[in-house]
Amino acid sequence: VSFRRLRIAGFKSFAEPTSVEIMPGLTGVVGPNGCGKSNVVEALRWAMGESNARNLRGGEMEDVIFAGTAGRASRNIAEVSLYLDEAHGRAPPPFHEQDELEIVRRIERGSGSAYRINGKDVRARDVQTLFADLASGSRASAMVSQGRVGTLVNARPEDRRSVLEEAANITGLHARRHEAELKLRAAEANLARAEDLRGQLE
Ligand code: ATP
Repeated sequence: VSFRRLRIAGFKSFAEPTSVEIMPGLTGVVGPNGCGKSNVVEALRWAMGESNARNLRGGEMEDVIFAGTAGRASRNIAEVSLYLDEAHGRAPPPFHEQDELEIVRRIERGSGSAYRINGKDVRARDVQTLFADLASGSRASAMVSQGRVGTLVNARPEDRRSVLEEAANITGLHARRHEAELKLRAAEANLARAEDLRGQLE
């Protein structure tokens, strides 16, 4: 899967719609202090389903909406779109047959976040699962934020293992397995109940 483009509108310091093209190879973001470099990375993480405002240097999620400056009125909506390609076979159903994916997260003051994948309304969980499967979610090892390198080096072995598991693309599978096990247990309980009832009838 490749990340092709990020479109940011009304998010943090990006009052006007801004597109960032991501070319193959290494991409650097340069600029003076405070110009919004970290905000670009946060926009990416936000679109991937980040659910903790503190990880985006905010008190609550609505703080990501452009708050206005001396010469510019604040906005009520923030929207970030992330374009991926070469995704064929990597995304969970019903998107597994699509080669290009457009993931959009939008927040409006007073009404929370809404997500779309290729124009279809989805839950935050669907977007998080998608990126867990692609091993590049907001908490995945592929996103290493400022200060986290040191944390990783000093982490307890079991915490480090979870990072390695993510890198090996198995955390998405663990979550699925857990869900499948819960379903299996529910089905077993139903079966036992059905057998009880049959026993009573016979
Ligand atoms: P540094 O090099 O110092 O780390 P940076 O280029 O990474 O800086 P950011 O931290 O991404 O810069 O951007 C900070 C700027 O974003 C600040 O000027 C701040 O006022 C602005 N900003 C953050 N949130 C909002 C918001 N909701 N509305 C408007 N501006 C915002």
